[in-house]
Amino acid sequence: MNVLESLRELLDGDGVVLYECRRCGATASTETVECCRCGSSEIARYEW
Ligand SMILES: [Zn+2]
Repeated sequence: MNVLESLRELLDGDGVVLYECRRCGATASTETVECCRCGSSEIARYEW
């Protein structure tokens, strides 16, 4: 088992999702369609 797999298994129950603005890099932990800092709609979604 590699490191990424064991890490994913560790965090599996939590369902960690992070949203990050592609323009300014602001992050949010709740689902958002618009950046709270710069108003950009280019939001990246990370889940692990
Ligand atoms: Zn932004």
